[in-house]
Amino acid sequence: MDWKKLSTTKITEVYNRLFLSRCYLCRAKSRNALCSYCQEGLPTNTNSCHHCKLPLLTTSILCGQCQTSPPAYQTCIAPYRFEGIIKTLIHSIKFNQGNHYIRPLTHLLSEKLIHAYEQDSWPEQLLYVPSHPSRIKERGFCQTKTLSSHLIRHLQQKIGKKCPIYTKNNPIKKVKNAQTQHSLSRKERLKNPKNNYTVDNSTAKHVALLDDVMTTGSTIETCTKLLLNAGAERVDIWVIARTPEKDNPHLAITQTFR
Ligand SMILES: [Zn+2]
Ligand SMILES: [Zn+2]
Repeated sequence: MDWKKLSTTKITEVYNRLFLSRCYLCRAKSRNALCSYCQEGLPTNTNSCHHCKLPLLTTSILCGQCQTSPPAYQTCIAPYRFEGIIKTLIHSIKFNQGNHYIRPLTHLLSEKLIHAYEQDSWPEQLLYVPSHPSRIKERGFCQTKTLSSHLIRHLQQKIGKKCPIYTKNNPIKKVKNAQTQHSLSRKERLKNPKNNYTVDNSTAKHVALLDDVMTTGSTIETCTKLLLNAGAERVDIWVIARTPEKDNPHLAITQTFR
């Protein structure tokens, strides 16, 4: 890991944000982590499947996959499409030591969660989809663990006692380090996560499962089923972004005109 590069970039960004109150992206004066101009440019996942939040042409319908084989989780909150600025920020966190972008992303996600749970009960416990220990060693940190701890701190300030509990000992473990998801085809990704994860402890009855991005949903589905076997009765999915299907020509057309 390039600690020199990490510390220089991180110190500049955190200094700009905390001491100069500037937007994380454009550095304009802003009271929030991202200024209103940058927030408007984010790819919001407005039209999506009612259950799995797969980007679609319209909202409040179920995608074909959810109609034939509904996911085991209760609900999915995925406020952005995995495109544009959001894709750049998440890639930067994962592959370019840009972990200072975790803060603005957790702020954005927490706003959406607070809105989503206005009429619903909050999960009792927050868990996350972890990376394999060898990836964590290589990267220097587990991005979903860092996302979870930032998110919980922010939620505690906003919703107080309703905030889910978060323990550093995440019961979900990645036990097999298969080829990384982003370098696999959709068919390979759907086959890949089986037996890659275990849950080594009991969980609360209502849990939230956090990941940065949901692509095919197969990893999320695998972990959900493991959590349901470990004692959970309801699993809610929290992801920052959902990947649109590449082979959906209608979606590609609408996005060109946006
Ligand atoms: Zn900005
Ligand atoms: Zn769906």
